[in-house]
Amino acid sequence: MSGWKRLNVGVIGGGIGGMSVAIALRRAGHEVTIYEKSDFAGEVGASVSCAANGTRWLYEWGVDVAKGDPVVLKKLINRDWKTGEPVSVYDLDDYETRWGYAYNMFHRQYMHAMLKDTAMGEEGEGTPAKLLVNHRCRDIDLQTTTVTFENGVEVQHDLIVGADGIGSAVRGILGIKPEKRPSESSCLHANVDTEEAVRLGLVDYSQNSALEYWGGQEGKWDKIVLSPCNGGKLLSYYCFFPRAIGDYTSQAWGVESRPVEELLKPFPELDSQVLKHLAIGKEIQPWRLWVHDPYPYLQRGNVCLLGDAGHPMMPHQSQGACMAIEDAAALGILFNRRYFNGDIRQSLEVYEKVRLPRVTRVQASAAKAAYNINERIGFSVNKDIPTYKVEDPKKVLTIEEMNAYDMYHDIEEKLAHIRGVNYEDRFICGLPYGLKLPNGVVIGTAA
Ligand SMILES: Cc1cc2nc3c(=O)[nH]c(=O)nc-3n(C[C@H](O)[C@H](O)[C@H](O)COP(=O)(O)OP(=O)(O)OC[C@H]3O[C@@H](n4cnc5c(N)ncnc54)[C@H](O)[C@@H]3O)c2cc1C
Repeated sequence: MSGWKRLNVGVIGGGIGGMSVAIALRRAGHEVTIYEKSDFAGEVGASVSCAANGTRWLYEWGVDVAKGDPVVLKKLINRDWKTGEPVSVYDLDDYETRWGYAYNMFHRQYMHAMLKDTAMGEEGEGTPAKLLVNHRCRDIDLQTTTVTFENGVEVQHDLIVGADGIGSAVRGILGIKPEKRPSESSCLHANVDTEEAVRLGLVDYSQNSALEYWGGQEGKWDKIVLSPCNGGKLLSYYCFFPRAIGDYTSQAWGVESRPVEELLKPFPELDSQVLKHLAIGKEIQPWRLWVHDPYPYLQRGNVCLLGDAGHPMMPHQSQGACMAIEDAAALGILFNRRYFNGDIRQSLEVYEKVRLPRVTRVQASAAKAAYNINERIGFSVNKDIPTYKVEDPKKVLTIEEMNAYDMYHDIEEKLAHIRGVNYEDRFICGLPYGLKLPNGVVIGTAA
């Protein structure tokens, strides 16, 4: 594209989204510096899932996915709270064949290290990104795109990406005041060592290679989510219960482990097999859960938001990391040699038009899935189980909608619109005309 120029980009925040956008933008030909407030020491382990809509970008970017030591998921299993009997099962056996990419379950630190290596490594396309730790962003002058850090350093960039997570400073600088409230549910996370569980004669859940859920059908906040990671050696448990029973809204992840009694207390009637696993749980951490209403915009001046900074979501669709990766992919495409004409403002406006509707839809459905597992992508099409009930069958989010999405088409459509040229491909918002989604919606026809 004529007018393309190499930009000097500053990324605020070196988490999953920050590393992803550094990869995408270095590959697009830009010079990237990441500023991270911490030094990455002391992160507590937990799983993080990456469905095909995230995994596809990892491959496109040449990330060495094996370094993340993932478990490739074969099933989603919803179990009865008390007996542990399967209630709703979604088979993922043909998932990779259908969508081209696996549903991976990573360990957060492994995933982060894998992305960091790709962002900063000498190999790979483009100039390796630089990382400066212990740089906490304090302010940005939106006129001059100059960032001031708490350590007194000041830097100027052509483009700034705010990837500074749910408590984003950049978001406030852009003038967004989140409408937020504590979630009705609390969450404690615990790690269980598979080898230890097996040694004690407990069920070896790692054998299922499944994302497993206890509860969730009853319209209650109680739910146990089990995800195996590290090739199955670690079982990462997310334990949800009503906030009235234990309120962790003001406590941060990364504190000293909570006592195991606190983890067991909310669940007297839980399937005894899984309760025995929780009894050997380690690194018990509260996960502060806040519900944020969608933000009105994602960019101002030459600054944009990415990942949790721009659209924090409840964890119940396991799409937070994938959405951050998709944001990064969108910026990588918009600023590449084919599409970027030198007009940063125009590219950021298209970024917002492409990302805001999709992330808002996932955000809304994640909030619904918090108290009704039938709204969860995958289970959302298991209509034959006796307890299936959803708010609006036509609005459920499905694997088809997540994975049939073609971001290149979405970007081309919106760029064409803003540049006043015709867009003739048979796609609407990245989905092909005529695609019949399992919720009955046919793309391109009136609902
Ligand atoms: C326990 C847990 C489990 C999760 N499980 C899943 C899952 O299974 N699937 C899924 O898809 N998502 C999951 N998520 C959500 C997912 O991790 C996030 O959506 C994703 O990490 C978003 O990436 P991010 O880069 O936007 O934010 P983060 O990864 O949080 O990174 C933000 C970074 O910015 C830094 N930072 C903050 N403020 C500043 C500042 N002022 N200046 C400089 N740097 C700053 C932070 O130190 C951090 O490194 C989980 C989250 C948690 C906490």
